Amino acid sequence: MLNYAQFLLKKISSLDLNQESFSNSILCLTQVSLVKPVIMPTRRQFLTANRDFPIRPPWSIAEAEFTQYCSGCGACVLICPEKILRLGSGNFPEVDFNRGECLFCQSCVDSCLEAVFDTKQTQAWNIKATINQQCLHYHHSECRRCEEGCETFAIRFVPKVNQIALPQINWQDCNGCGACVRYCPTQAIHMKRMVT
Ligand code: SF4
Ligand code: SF4
Ligand code: SF4
Repeated sequence: MLNYAQFLLKKISSLDLNQESFSNSILCLTQVSLVKPVIMPTRRQFLTANRDFPIRPPWSIAEAEFTQYCSGCGACVLICPEKILRLGSGNFPEVDFNRGECLFCQSCVDSCLEAVFDTKQTQAWNIKATINQQCLHYHHSECRRCEEGCETFAIRFVPKVNQIALPQINWQDCNGCGACVRYCPTQAIHMKRMVT
């Protein structure tokens, strides 16, 4: 038999920000609060329950530590010249490549007063572009806008006999800047975190 504190902890650990059930869970907790005081989970507890977490600014430290130390002040969001950062769930900064590309200018890093960035990391982040079959070339139409927009020449179109060339991304050359995302007229390009 669970006591009240154990019951609340069980409820809190089952919360998932990305699901509609989140609001139901909050409602449930609120209803419980009519009987006894509610111990609300911290922002960090909310987010560490969600493994598919958003892309943080470049040079961010590991997610668990980032959400522990980031104060949600929004300084990085305000200073980003490309305006690709916004405060998302839990008031933590997230990158939105639909707004633009990362210039790796480190303005976000320099604006931050908390220990959530590590510029000694050789890579700014481990995210890469992927292209799905919404690409016009899978539908027999020439486009190549992403190839033209990629400054590191990571996107190539591989010719095929009697077929339209299909896109290929060389991940070794992709720095995750996200510039190609905006160029695509069919939203076929997505930035994905690579598992190491
Ligand atoms: S490095 Fe510069 S462009 Fe990239 S997110 Fe930070 S402030 Fe924005
Ligand atoms: S400036 Fe630092 S503490 Fe403030 S929201 Fe950005 S990452 Fe978090
Ligand atoms: S994310 Fe940047 S480097 Fe990678 S393929 Fe797209 S434009 Fe090129």
